[in-house]
Amino acid sequence: MSTAGVVVVGGGIAGMSVAAELAAAGVERPVLLEAEPELARHTTGRSAASYIPGHGSGPMRALVAASRDRFDALAEEAGHAFLRPRPVLHVASTPDEERTLRAEILPLDPVEELTPGDAVRRWPALRPDAVRAAGWVADAHDADPIGLHQHYRRCFRAAGGEIRTAAPVVGMAPTGTGWHLDLPDDGLDTDLVVLAAGAWTDRLLALAGAPLLGLQAYRRTIAIVRADVRADDPFAVSASDSWYAKPEGQYLLVSPSEETPQDPGDARPDELDVALALERVAAVTTLAPRSVVTAWAGQRTFAPDRTLVVGERAPGLAVVAGQGGSGIETAPAAAALAATVLLGRALPDDLRRHGVEPGSYHPDRLL
Ligand SMILES: Cc1cc2nc3c(=O)[nH]c(=O)nc-3n(C[C@H](O)[C@H](O)[C@H](O)COP(=O)(O)OP(=O)(O)OC[C@H]3O[C@@H](n4cnc5c(N)ncnc54)[C@H](O)[C@@H]3O)c2cc1C
Repeated sequence: MSTAGVVVVGGGIAGMSVAAELAAAGVERPVLLEAEPELARHTTGRSAASYIPGHGSGPMRALVAASRDRFDALAEEAGHAFLRPRPVLHVASTPDEERTLRAEILPLDPVEELTPGDAVRRWPALRPDAVRAAGWVADAHDADPIGLHQHYRRCFRAAGGEIRTAAPVVGMAPTGTGWHLDLPDDGLDTDLVVLAAGAWTDRLLALAGAPLLGLQAYRRTIAIVRADVRADDPFAVSASDSWYAKPEGQYLLVSPSEETPQDPGDARPDELDVALALERVAAVTTLAPRSVVTAWAGQRTFAPDRTLVVGERAPGLAVVAGQGGSGIETAPAAAALAATVLLGRALPDDLRRHGVEPGSYHPDRLL
């Protein structure tokens, strides 16, 4: 039996970034537990790797905005950039999509309206007859989720953190002063448990006998296909969220943007969804997506209000969950928010300046 000052459960970007922030804040004997033999095997390793200002619900947008400078500061620390510019082009091809674009997308702060002609100039593969209206987000980027995860991992280890892989938490019980965690061949006592287990977070809350958050995992599929891409093409997204496409090296990354509800697990791509992505992108472009190089799927996990959940669910038992489709682009600010909330410290000024309000993320809002 061993003891820890804090145990973070989950070795994706959420767990790794929060563990690094807690260790940097001076929490003693921090331990991170990951069920799989390696870290970042689930959603974190399967994203579209985009950073898009204006993406998501209001509180999520605040975290995306607050993460921008923090990405740069992390890049300086690491000597490696975690963001590379790739503007976003929102495309409305039908009257319904044009209504959605005008009502929901163009009013967002970083989105600038483009004429259809400008949209085609910025993405020459777009068929002129397939664009009625368009929006542009200039300060969007490709992110480097695995590089970011590795940087947080190095910081955690350098601050004395211990990482245990192939270490699934299979039982949890309160001890009066903290929690006892059961692992298959071992046990661990700790003052504070942080559940950052993505789609599995509600299952862990159930193990602890704590109220659930109502998290739902949704499968989303990505395919990498051969097509005539240009390296500096934008990240193009349909205004109705029915497809997206962007260059991925010499190939094209496409998704049908589906949201198929699933139980937590190892999501697999569905052939029909891959075919839909190709068909929808082919319908609006001259890209002629051809054979599929590879495809994968991952689970995007949302709370009922589609906003991140950060805070204590029971004494000594906290959650950082419900990152949805924004767990990479919000990671730097979300990890800083979690560390300050869990340690009862003052919110950093940069987060406050961007409108990050801890109460908007607290689990009690879901009661
Ligand atoms: C197709 C797709 C595209 C996306 N595109 C973007 C994008 O462009 N930009 C963006 O910001 N986000 C994007 N996302 C979302 C982003 O990837 C997620 O929000 C983020 O990776 C979630 O990280 P996480 O650490 O919460 O979850 P995960 O990476 O799933 O990590 C949870 C970990 O908990 C572990 N675990 C579970 N149960 C236990 C247990 N009992 N004991 C120990 N460990 C346990 C799991 O094994 C897992 O490793 C996308 C997601 C998908 C699927």
